[in-house]
This record gives sequence, C-alpha cells and structure tokens, in this order.
Amino acid sequence: MSTWLPARLVGREDQSATGRTLYLDVPRWPGHLAGQHVDVRLTADDGYHAVRSYSLAAPAEGSRIELGVQSVPGGEVSPYLADDLPLSAEVEVRGPLGGWFVWRPDTDGPVLLVAGGCGIVPLMAMIRAHRNHSTAPMHLVYSVRDPGQIWYHEELTGTGLGTTVHLVHTRQAPPGSSRPPGRVTASDLALPTAADGTGPECFVCGPTGFVENAAGLLTDAGHPPGRIRTERFG
Ligand SMILES: Cc1cc2nc3c(=O)[nH]c(=O)nc-3n(C[C@H](O)[C@H](O)[C@H](O)COP(=O)(O)OP(=O)(O)OC[C@H]3O[C@@H](n4cnc5c(N)ncnc54)[C@H](O)[C@@H]3O)c2cc1C
Repeated sequence: MSTWLPARLVGREDQSATGRTLYLDVPRWPGHLAGQHVDVRLTADDGYHAVRSYSLAAPAEGSRIELGVQSVPGGEVSPYLADDLPLSAEVEVRGPLGGWFVWRPDTDGPVLLVAGGCGIVPLMAMIRAHRNHSTAPMHLVYSVRDPGQIWYHEELTGTGLGTTVHLVHTRQAPPGSSRPPGRVTASDLALPTAADGTGPECFVCGPTGFVENAAGLLTDAGHPPGRIRTERFG
C-alpha cells in the first residue's frame, strides 16, 4: 500500500452550487492513470482521522493533482473539503489507487463513458487524456438532475473536446430540449457498432443505484460483462 503524502490546497473552483474542483500540490506525487483515485486523510487536533476516496479528474501533470468533490449534506468530510478547507492548508493523500477502472490512451477501440452526477470526475480524466493522445472514438453519456448540475460545462460543450457528449437531464431539461427529463434509458446508451463488430469498452461511474441501472441496461443490450467497468461512489 502506498504511503501518505502531504498535499497542499492550491486552488478551488466551483463546478455547481455544491460541487468543487480542488487543486492540490503533492511534491512527491508518482503520477497516475486516467480513472484512478486517491484516499484523502484529514487529521483533527486530537489525532482523529477521517479518510475518504476521491477520483483524479485530470491526467498526471507533475506534482499537481485535481479532484472533484460533491458536498454531501450532513457528510463528515465532503462539505469541509468542498467549502471550508482553507487555501494553503495541508491534508494527506495516498495513491494512486485502483488498477481496474482505468483507460489507457494507447487503446484503439471505441469507448463509452457513462456518468451519473459527480461520477463524471474520473471519466473527465479519461476525456482529457483522450483529447491529448488518442483518436479512438469516445462517447460520453452524462446524466444530471438539471442544467445547473453539469460539471466542466464549458469544456464539455466547447470545441476540440474529441469526445461526443450526450446529456441526460433527469428532473429538468433545458428549454427546447428534444429529450424529456427522465432516467438514462437503453436508447441513450445505444451506439453504432464498429465496422468490425467491436463493441465499446464501457466505463460507468456514479452513485450505486445509477451504476447498477446503467450497467444492467448495457448488459441487456448485449455488452459483454467483461467490457463493462464500474465505479460506485457509495
Ligand atoms: C473509489 C471512490 C471514488 C470516489 N470519488 C469521488 C469523487 O471523485 N467525488 C466525490 O464527491 N465523491 C467521491 N467518492 C465518494 C467519497 O469517497 C465520499 O463517500 C463522499 O464524499 C461522502 O463523504 P462524507 O464524509 O461527506 O459523507 P459521510 O459522512 O461518509 O456520509 C454521510 C451520509 O451521506 C451518505 N453518502 C455518502 N456518500 C454519498 C454520496 N456520494 N452521495 C450521496 N450520499 C452519500 C452516507 O450514506 C451517509 O448517510 C468516491 C468514493 C469511492 C469509493
């Protein structure tokens, strides 16, 4: 198991009313793959520790790592990290962790990313790694309650992303939207099969219920279970 490393908060950015990007400087950071996560450890004055996992939102870039934290009401750690941890304060991180839910840019085949809420975070690392290093077809299905909950909005809707994006609004769709609000369905996840019959490698991330529903739809549509990788945020 990797050791705990000091990590300094060097920046914070709003992604939604309750979602934040945190930029941390980790001097001895060893680098990571898109999809991996870290454990973050907070220590109180009396020595009490709280540890939670957070996904890495961007490919490795020297000693700087980027996390995305959704503040969970009543949560012990996420509201503090999202809004109260002061700039320049130190926490500890351990990682990178996770070797299964990763995408490598040297993979050629098509990729289907399916995100629910802040489950977009590790998939964003894949999208960013893909933009810089791959021409493999990549498609994102991103489920959010309403337009105000879309993280990385400018980046996902701007030019040069290299990934096609299909937004699914579950409670409130933007005016003029052709898709009525509702949960992700089989047709949201339908992708053309490649000429050689290869289906995509699928990555599904979000709250447990979302992941189970989406993975079930993919299995029902004939995707082999071995090509569906999932990450549950609890
Ligand atoms: C591999 C992995 C990667 C993760 N990556 C991220 C990430 O990139 N961004 C992120 O924001 N979170 C991520 N999480 C979730 C994160 O680790 C915490 O569980 C979350 O921040 C809540 O912690 P808390 O201390 O605030 O809440 P807690 O004090 O642990 O829980 C408070 C209450 O909220 C409920 N709860 C816990 N987590 C959630 C949740 N995610 N949604 C709704 N209710 C919840 C609990 O059941 C409990 O009732 C990840 C989890 C795992 C396992």
